[in-house]
Amino acid sequence: LIYNNIKIEEVYTHDYSCNRYIVYCDESDTAVVIDPGCNARIVISKLNELNKKLGAILLTHAHYDHIQSVSELKRRYGAHVYLGERDMELIESDGHLAWYFRKQLDAFEVDVRLTGGVYDVCGFVFEAIPTPGHTHGAMTFVIGDNMFSGDTIFFETYGRTDLQGSDLKELTESAKRLFALKGDYKIFCGHGKNTSLSHERKHNPIIGLF
Ligand SMILES: [Zn+2]
Repeated sequence: LIYNNIKIEEVYTHDYSCNRYIVYCDESDTAVVIDPGCNARIVISKLNELNKKLGAILLTHAHYDHIQSVSELKRRYGAHVYLGERDMELIESDGHLAWYFRKQLDAFEVDVRLTGGVYDVCGFVFEAIPTPGHTHGAMTFVIGDNMFSGDTIFFETYGRTDLQGSDLKELTESAKRLFALKGDYKIFCGHGKNTSLSHERKHNPIIGLF
């Protein structure tokens, strides 16, 4: 069973953590969360409000501000965790940067190590596009005409490349590949406001680095 009429709930908090998104539809009682970087309670109360249980946790990359509540949510719901294979190096070391936020990562198992391609996630069809640069294993998720760019592309800017696993050249190549996609997409960024692929093709400063 494949769900097409998807809805996206944006969950913002005013702390260091990232934007996080709940993907769901009326036909299923199961939702998918992307980058639960905040306190788990915030995600749980939103899921309760929507009357959904959590089936899967998709991670654009393995930085603490995107993965803070993965462990707790996985324990509570038994949700499967999806992460780019090359970001395993971050959660197996200090590369997840929890120390930077003066926190400790509550460790979790990754169920699906993404290498790119199309994945059926609880009936939601996501394409995972490898977009290394901010981290080696960074993924951009596409469902319908929606794109979840993590810390690769932001509104008129792009992610940091001074961290473990970062590479500015890789990031420009990744942006190039996204900008070369046909058509337009709404972009839900890991931080800051939403944008669109057509806007970023014209206005993102990374195009000056191509
Ligand atoms: Zn990051």
